[in-house]
This record gives sequence, structure tokens and C-alpha cells, in this order.
Amino acid sequence: MKEKIQEEFKKHFGGEGTLYASAGRINLIGEHTDYNGGYVFPGAIDKVIMAEIRPNDTDKVHVYSIDIDDTAEFGLNEEDAPKQQWARYIFGICREIIKRGGTVKGFDAVFAGNVPLGAGLSSSAALESCFAFALNDLFNGNTIDKFELARIGQSTEHNYCGVNCGIMDQFASVFGKKGNLMRLDCRSMEFEYFPFNPQGYKLVLVDSVVKHELVDSPYNKRRQSCERVAKRLGVETLRDATKEALDAAKSDISAEDYSRAKFVIEEKERVLDVCDALNRGDYETVGQLMYATHNGLSKDYEVSCEELDFLNDVAKECGVTGSRIMGGGFGGCTINLVADDKYDHFIAEAKKRFNEKYGHEPKIYDVVISDGARKVTE
Ligand code: ADP
Ligand code: MG
Repeated sequence: MKEKIQEEFKKHFGGEGTLYASAGRINLIGEHTDYNGGYVFPGAIDKVIMAEIRPNDTDKVHVYSIDIDDTAEFGLNEEDAPKQQWARYIFGICREIIKRGGTVKGFDAVFAGNVPLGAGLSSSAALESCFAFALNDLFNGNTIDKFELARIGQSTEHNYCGVNCGIMDQFASVFGKKGNLMRLDCRSMEFEYFPFNPQGYKLVLVDSVVKHELVDSPYNKRRQSCERVAKRLGVETLRDATKEALDAAKSDISAEDYSRAKFVIEEKERVLDVCDALNRGDYETVGQLMYATHNGLSKDYEVSCEELDFLNDVAKECGVTGSRIMGGGFGGCTINLVADDKYDHFIAEAKKRFNEKYGHEPKIYDVVISDGARKVTE
């Protein structure tokens, strides 16, 4: 990818710039916990967006996207927004830095990536963090702190791309560190690295390539259930609720709200249990907790779908160590922790059996926990 970018940069702009990269991400465990003030547990992966960039001493930005084979040119004022969606991510980063009092001047850039688009691995956050990191280095002497870089990416999604996302994806992409996952406390925004070096196991995503659009927003309904129960229990968010308090109030909570809150409270504990297991290097326990999360998402939170439950069953039958839905649900990927000697059989079975039942194969993405945003020096 690097050579291709360098070749295209020479062709479009002549000479060379500086190379930067940032990564997509997975979330090992901690689902639907962010808006409940709980923990998420992401890590950056070995799938990246890489860009070569050079200031051009003008007030215009020229960018060539290799993967889309398209060029965008824009100024740096609010009214200069480009029309291409992919370029709005880059424009948004420029604007959000400027809005915060930072500096961005004109530049030339060429970029490419291998984070699958729209598969739940957050290619958009990789793109945002790559440019946010680069523009901080090139024009701001790295004075913008890393949390702010993540917020700049998040605000770009909100203000320029119409996606009302949380902070996890950009956080993971900016702070990612090889061989480490990060437990982010969504209440205090404090985080801690935990070693993740699953020797003898692979981490693999199985993408169902389905996305069920439901009539009313299940996301908003889930949030409302959580808020109702938190209010009933007298806590700000379910982060502060216990299973005992929930059970004591069971008679005044609807059966549906009870199940939703039960999942959130249990999921918070599971993240902490996974961290303990990782500190012991106990990947079998990590896997069991992943299955427990799947079960909760499917039965209590009810955000799974037939295809994802099917993939989870295939994983179980093939002796996969851990498997669960990754992301909000109703389609997308499962994330699987698989012992090396079970891997080939599992992948072959998942492809064959899914194809027999649903008429197409799932996509398979192997991932390794890797560094996030960086200057590419090698
Ligand atoms: P994801 O879940 O992968 O983040 P999104 O829909 O949020 O999916 O973001 C995908 C968008 O990000 C693409 O439509 C495109 O605009 C931009 N993007 C991601 N990767 C690339 C790439 N390699 N080249 C150009 N644009 C990209
Ligand atoms: Mg995205």
C-alpha cells in the first residue's frame, strides 16, 4: 500500500510528502454499555488508512483517494465543503481543528486503506484519525492532545457526516497500541491498557453481510428502557446499578425493561472479568465471557438476528473458544477467538453452512491488535 501511495503522490503532485497511518478497531467486549456510563474494551487492528501529505503553501486542499479513484479540492472555510462523502471526512477534520483554535493550511494528499468499509471495523474513524494526527503533526507541532484528536474525529462525524456516534471508535484508532486492548470508562473517560497477546489463538471476524433495517429505532428504544430503569433505581445511569437493586425493584419494572437492564448490569461485570482473565493470560475464560455476552445480547437485550445466532451456533459446534456479536446488532459481524488448530475447520464450516442457509458466504477478516495513529517511519 505504501509504495502505491508514494507512486500516486509523485504522479499527482510530484516529489514526496510525509506518511501517516491510523487503524480500524474491534471491541472485544462491552456492548451497549457506552450510553449507560459503563466500559468498552476496544483495540486498534492491523487494517489501516495510510496517507501521504505535504503542505502546499496555498489555502486549498487537494486530495486523491486511490480506492475510490477520485480527486477532491476544497478551501478551508465552512462554505467550502466538498460534495463527495469521502472528502467530507477530511474537510470535517480540518474544520474541527480550526474551530478549536488550531492551524490548518493548504496541503496535497494521497490516501488508501484496507479497512473494509461499513463492516463494523470503523474505516471512517481510521480515516479521521489518520488526518487528525497528521494535521496536528504538520501544522500544530503536536500541541493538540490525543483525546482532543479523538473528539475532533467524533465531531467530524456529527457535524459533517450525519453520524451521531460515541467516542469509542476514534478513541481506539488514536490510542491503539500493538498487543494491547484499552478499557475505556465511558463515565469518567479514564482508560487503561491491558495486554492482549493470544498466543495459540487467532482473532477473526465473520461478517454476515446482512443489515436488518427495523421500522422503529431499536437503539432509541433500548436507551429509553435503560433510562427508565436507572430513574426507577435512583441512579444516574445503569453503571451505578446493581443486580440486587434491580431484583428488589423487579415488581415495578416491565419484564422487557428488566431484561434490558439485567443485560447492561451483567455486561459491565463481564468487562471487568475479561480484564482479570487477561491479566492471568486466561483466554479460555475470555472466550466463555464472549459467549455469555452473545447470549445476553440475543436473549435479554434482543439485538441479535437469525444470521448472527446461526454463526454463533456454528462457532460453538466447531469448538471456537469465544464468539459474539460485535457492534450494535441486527446484522454485521461476529468476533471470534479461535484456537489455531480449530481455525481452518471453523472458517470452512462457517462459509459452507452459512452459504447453504442464506445463499451467500460470510466475509472473513483476520485481525491482529496493532498500533493506532502514527507517523509511518519505516
Ligand atoms: P465504517 O463502519 O467502516 O466506519 P462508515 O459508513 O462509517 O463505515 O464509513 C465509511 C466511509 O468512510 C466510506 O463511505 C468513505 O466515505 C470513507 N472511507 C473509508 N475508507 C475509505 C477509503 N479507503 N477510501 C476512501 N474513503 C474511505
Ligand atoms: Mg464509521
